[in-house]
Amino acid sequence: MSDLGRQTNNPPPALRERLAAVRERIERAARRAGRDPAAVELVAVTKTHPADAVRAAVDAGQSLFGENRLQEALPKMDAVGPGPRWHLIGHLQRNKAAAVGRFELIHSVDSTRLIEELERRAAAADTQQAILLQLNVAGEASKFGAAPADLPALLAALAAAPHLRALGLMTIPPWDDDPERTRPHFSALRRLLEEAQGPPNFEKKHLSMGMSGDFEVAIEEGATLVRLGSALFGPRL
Ligand SMILES: *Cc1c(COP(=O)(O)O)cnc(C)c1O
Repeated sequence: MSDLGRQTNNPPPALRERLAAVRERIERAARRAGRDPAAVELVAVTKTHPADAVRAAVDAGQSLFGENRLQEALPKMDAVGPGPRWHLIGHLQRNKAAAVGRFELIHSVDSTRLIEELERRAAAADTQQAILLQLNVAGEASKFGAAPADLPALLAALAAAPHLRALGLMTIPPWDDDPERTRPHFSALRRLLEEAQGPPNFEKKHLSMGMSGDFEVAIEEGATLVRLGSALFGPRL
């Protein structure tokens, strides 16, 4: 992108204000829980929003973005160009090879088969890929994510995947308009991370949990990555 292009790219005031308000809420939630606010990073989720929304957020000081579908993410990332960091937060279906090496972190690894496939792709590309293991702590049939009881099997598969580094756990709890009812799912994920016994390429670094409706509760329960879309960009297009 040319310098000229960037100069004309002033973020709309609403986005600046929303970013500032969200950052302040993140900081307050962290302090309430006696945590360092710097230990919580905001993933700005731009799904359904165009590349211009990403550029505007970059100009407002946001550097980390999340997308949930590869087909939507890759063209948008190409359009925006170098600068932002990208996380893949949604389920990986086809075309897994295209994801490896493009994302700083893939949040949504939920089966031993997917670990094996990503390992093959990462080995073929001679690269290392950072991932999170996605768990379905509530046990809903409709959601992606492995059952907590399957975590040992995932960790065993990871032990045989030297091109992958798992940095922690991710969850998407069932939607509830009262975040207090979501809290037990977040604390359950934290306990699972604390108690997990993994190979050396499993680090207990990240808990990816909390979205626009419940991120403060997630931070109180230990979230290090909160994934926010509508709180920043408004309703999905
Ligand atoms: C869309 C999405 C989010 C953001 O949801 P909001 O409620 O808009 O904040 C977070 N995580 C995942 C996996 C998503 O797909």
